[in-house]
Amino acid sequence: MGKTTLLISDLHLHPGAPDITRGFLAWLEENRGTDVDLYLLGDIFDAWIGDDLMLLGDADPSGHARLACAVADQLKAASDRGTRIYLMHGNRDFLLGSDFAERAGATLLNDPQRIELGGEPTLLMHGDSLCTRDEAYMAFRVKARDPQWQASILAMPIPERLALASQLRQQSGEANSTKAADIMDVTPDEVLSAMQQHDVKRLIHGHTHRPDVHPLTLTAADGSKTQGQRMVIGDWSSNEGWEVRIDGDGAPALNRFTF
Ligand code: MN
Repeated sequence: MGKTTLLISDLHLHPGAPDITRGFLAWLEENRGTDVDLYLLGDIFDAWIGDDLMLLGDADPSGHARLACAVADQLKAASDRGTRIYLMHGNRDFLLGSDFAERAGATLLNDPQRIELGGEPTLLMHGDSLCTRDEAYMAFRVKARDPQWQASILAMPIPERLALASQLRQQSGEANSTKAADIMDVTPDEVLSAMQQHDVKRLIHGHTHRPDVHPLTLTAADGSKTQGQRMVIGDWSSNEGWEVRIDGDGAPALNRFTF
C-alpha cells in the first residue's frame, strides 16, 4: 500500500450544523493514517473571526470557539499519528492563522499551490479567484486579503467580530440569491490561464459547490494541444460529503459518500 492523498473543501462547519461536524470527525477518524496527505482546500469553517476565538473555549456562547477547538484538536490527533495536514484559506475562513495551524498540526498553503499528485503536477486552489465575473466579490476579495484590513478586523472585540461575520454571511446569501448562475461559476478562460501559467494539466478546486470532473483542452506556447482535467470537489451537507482520493500513483477519483 502506497501513500493515500485526500482532498476536501467546503464543509462550512458551523455550530448550527452539528451533523456535518460529526460526519467530518468520523471521516477523519476513518482516514487518518501514517501515510496519508490530507488537503483542506478552504471553507472548512463557514466563518472564522480570528484564531484568538479559540482561547474562549466553552466561555463563547455562540459555540464557534468550542467547534474550532474540537476540530483543531482532532486534526492534531491525526497529525500526531502521522497524517500530513495542509490547509488552504477559502472565502469564508480567510482569517485562519498560524495559531490554528499550529494547534491543528497543519501547514498553511498559498492559493494557488502547485504539488505533485501521483506523479502528475497538479494545481490546487480554493476556487473563488477563478470566479472573475462576480466583480463585487472580486473587489471584496482584494480587501479581505489586505493585511492592514485584516489587522483592523482582528483588533475588534470578539462579540463585534461575531456580529460582523453573521452580517457578512447574511449579505452574501442575499447577494448570491440574485446573481446569475454563471457568475457564480468559474470563468473558463481564467481556468486555462491559471493552468498554463503554472504548467499543469490537472486542477483541483472547490468553492462552486458543483462537484464534477471536466476534461479540457490546453494550448501550449508552441500551439500544440494537450488534454487536461479540472476536478471540482463538492460541498458537504448534513448527511453527505465529497472527497478526491488518490491511492498510490493511481488516478484521482471524485467520491460522494453519506454519513
Ligand atoms: Mn468558497
